[in-house]
Amino acid sequence: MDHFCQNLQVMSNSEDSTAEVATGPFGSALVEQMVSASWRNGAWSKPIVGPVEPLRLHPAAHALHYGSACFEGLKAHRGDDGIVRVFRLDQHVRRLQDSARALVLPVPDAEMLTEMVVRLVRSSLASVPAAPGSLYVRPTLIGTEANIGAATRPSSEALLYVLASPVGDYFTGGGRPLMLAVNSELPRTTPQFGKVKAGANYAMALRTTIDANVDLGVDQVLFAPNGLITETGASNVLLLDGRSILTPALESTFLHGVTRDSILALASDLGYRIEERPVSVDDLVDWVGRPTAEVALSGTAAVLAGVGSISYRGQRHQVGDGLVGERTTELRRALTDTLIGRRPDLRGWLTAVPQ
Ligand SMILES: *Cc1c(COP(=O)(O)O)cnc(C)c1O
Repeated sequence: MDHFCQNLQVMSNSEDSTAEVATGPFGSALVEQMVSASWRNGAWSKPIVGPVEPLRLHPAAHALHYGSACFEGLKAHRGDDGIVRVFRLDQHVRRLQDSARALVLPVPDAEMLTEMVVRLVRSSLASVPAAPGSLYVRPTLIGTEANIGAATRPSSEALLYVLASPVGDYFTGGGRPLMLAVNSELPRTTPQFGKVKAGANYAMALRTTIDANVDLGVDQVLFAPNGLITETGASNVLLLDGRSILTPALESTFLHGVTRDSILALASDLGYRIEERPVSVDDLVDWVGRPTAEVALSGTAAVLAGVGSISYRGQRHQVGDGLVGERTTELRRALTDTLIGRRPDLRGWLTAVPQ
């Protein structure tokens, strides 16, 4: 097996749908099929379903040298009624299109990409675990032109493929409150790439995050260049207190999370007061000192995760009582109930996948 596949276990999707679906650590088990389409001579090929296997990629491929790679992450959930539904597919399709534009890669048609996702989920129905598990879906777009002279040109060829991975509850182990460190100097990535899911963004944040893991023992870094809070390496940040929510107003410097948007919409339905404005590190430090303060991170993988402490300039600030807060739990529940059809889908967020 090729070295890059060593840690990935490819799963058979032939079990019947009532059987328990095996899930490994997040993203480590893949369903055995993927759907792919390629861009050549200015047109997309017809998407095909095929086995997940090593790609035939030229060593001079654009993505490998010049970073033309982006992706999406979304989930399909099995409802109490057994029906599998994809959450906010249109938003994820649109964001992959935005990412493609930012990287000057061919922009997949919304209809084609939507169909590719639905087709993969449909052919993987037996691999969709029951809640709180789900099928994590990973559309990926890479520049494949073989030309090491194309540093200042877009790739003339590309590959779009969609993978899927059955995942368990992100919080097996009880949802321990996370520890964050604020970095008030470095941005997570460059401002023009902040709101797209370009692969290089994660490479840019990695050194800072690993150093903070090792030096401060924290889970994540909250990037706050110029003293203004943006987000962590892969999630948005929300400050809660009673029925108030404060979160940084959308800026092109950070990812506009679908989970963030969904939580804010549900919170507003539940009567929360929501404030979106620039949030400084000083605002954050003041906020966490309140006795009932909560801080939560939002993203497709973790949904809504509680933060127990924040380190800043060598000082550790406990958030409220240091535990995962009541409001965080309430909002997380509102969202997970929506995903599995236990709350009405008032905004048309769910795409049911035909059996
Ligand atoms: C994907 C991602 C998020 C969360 O976005 P969702 O749409 O909620 O999954 C937040 N920040 C970064 C940097 C991300 O890559």
